[in-house]
Amino acid sequence: MKQKHKKNEFESDFENSELDALNEEIDDLKKLSKAERKMLRAAKRKGVDRSTLDPYDQSDKAEFKRYAKKHKATVAIVSITIALLLAIIGTVVAILIIRQQGKPSSANYEVTVGDDKPYTLSYKEANSYGQFYFDLCSIAKYSDLVVSGSERRVKFTCPDGTYVRFVNDSATATVNGDAVKVGGKVKIIPSTEKEEGKCLVPFKFIEKLFSHKADGNSVGMVAKVSSKNKVTIHRISYSNGSQPPISFASECFDYADDMQISSYPNPNIDARTASAICVSKLYLVNKSNPMREEEITTNGLVSLKSLNCPTVDGLEDYDSKDFFDPTAALALIAMINEANKTLEGGDKILVSSAYRSFSYQEGLHEKYIDNYMDEHDVSEEEAREQTLLTSAPAGKSEHHSGLCVDLVESRAAQRELDETFEDTEAFAWLSQNAHKYGFILRYPKDKTDITKYSYEPWHYRFVGVYAATIIYEDNITLEEYLADFE
Ligand SMILES: [Zn+2]
Repeated sequence: MKQKHKKNEFESDFENSELDALNEEIDDLKKLSKAERKMLRAAKRKGVDRSTLDPYDQSDKAEFKRYAKKHKATVAIVSITIALLLAIIGTVVAILIIRQQGKPSSANYEVTVGDDKPYTLSYKEANSYGQFYFDLCSIAKYSDLVVSGSERRVKFTCPDGTYVRFVNDSATATVNGDAVKVGGKVKIIPSTEKEEGKCLVPFKFIEKLFSHKADGNSVGMVAKVSSKNKVTIHRISYSNGSQPPISFASECFDYADDMQISSYPNPNIDARTASAICVSKLYLVNKSNPMREEEITTNGLVSLKSLNCPTVDGLEDYDSKDFFDPTAALALIAMINEANKTLEGGDKILVSSAYRSFSYQEGLHEKYIDNYMDEHDVSEEEAREQTLLTSAPAGKSEHHSGLCVDLVESRAAQRELDETFEDTEAFAWLSQNAHKYGFILRYPKDKTDITKYSYEPWHYRFVGVYAATIIYEDNITLEEYLADFE
């Protein structure tokens, strides 16, 4: 009953009018929004003298409303900022998780080769382009591989002669002559006085390299990387203790698309065939490697004119001079058409010479000797010697192969093949782009000691996109390219 007594006391202390005013004030307080009440509490926390703010005073009420509005805006900005930050953090975390998947943790690797003591391979060194790389040089000895090559190209040869060859920065390798996909760019680190050279290759490629099977048995080696960052590489031993030899087979790999360039009109050919075709074109015809007369034939060649290839007038009428290798012809036409789009004033690149028969080259060479004798008033012997620098005797001209062409510009007043071709727009374009179509400048200016031919800016040879790109990028000749690996 104590409470009731209190109430009575309370009621008795107030006049009715005062009670009405109080009720009104309570109603006003109720009308304060949640935000206004929050502001009131915030004012209290900040030590603002709340007693100076009178929620029943009209001007103070307006003040409360301003606070409330500001508060709402602040809350909205803070909320949006937090939401954005969370979204960004979430995205970053998601990306990191996705990138981390399938990748070993960032601890170093413990590598065991055969029965040797394990060694540590740093995570940093072993991880490039988001995958695990392994130095094939480090196991060459253990796997009986002979290492050869240069600073940019390394070849590993098995005892049975099968081989794999890598080019620095290239995602294409060659296994027994076939261009195959590596699955990542190879990194070749040349050796220094302090450290041995390295050939860092995606581990998945190395696994495949050694997983070649013969008669249902794995040949040679097993290479594995476990989730605990342990790498083991060991030779296979048969139950009788003998070890099968190491051998490589290109069939284990995806073939590189050697012919797949945008304007290459050869949709019906698969990468395996393309690669094999291009490899079959990689041979030398020069003064040291002549073709026999009976090998020099138009069999298997096609007429460039019949394929609408731009040629000089009448080329097709003369001793099969417009004949060309059918694969190389497709690349040649694509290349010339592309170049001609860019030449100013409607100028055009034309083929002035393609295939040459034995008898044609014989006649041509003798004519050059006669001309030289007439012009320089020298003995036939000396004329013969001098002519050899610019012309090949029958059998020794690359033109016999049906794989090379001499090119001229249509607007040139005379179409003699001379070094002025170097100053043409056509030459500028070919210098930058011919390799993309599988062609190389066969007799460069600074390589005459290797090619044994004078500089010929007009003479281009088809070798396939893969070889042409290496020859172009390394600034080497076909002689050097082939010598490196044969
Ligand atoms: Zn030529």
